[in-house]
Amino acid sequence: MDEEVCELCGRSSVDTTEHHLIPKQYGGTDGPVAQLCIPCHKQIHAIFTNEELAGFYHTLLRLQEHPTMEKYLKWIRKQAPGKKITIKKSNRKKGR
Ligand SMILES: [Zn+2]
Ligand SMILES: [Zn+2]
Repeated sequence: MDEEVCELCGRSSVDTTEHHLIPKQYGGTDGPVAQLCIPCHKQIHAIFTNEELAGFYHTLLRLQEHPTMEKYLKWIRKQAPGKKITIKKSNRKKGR
């Protein structure tokens, strides 16, 4: 069985990648990981800095409850698994 499910948006039959809930940079190398589809993974790293991920957004629930993520998740759940998704980089991270 090679059907993968994204732990964030819950879509199935997607390619998933490993997301370190605590970024490796902050000691999460051996920490918990989540299997995320590629758009979800990109979305997380577009919105949050590694510092924010390590400091607060290190559970799937907290990620899901962030207002921008909520909006994104509502939208992504309607997209077909095979569809190519482009994630725009968030302006918030500019200048860091
Ligand atoms: Zn997903
Ligand atoms: Zn990641």
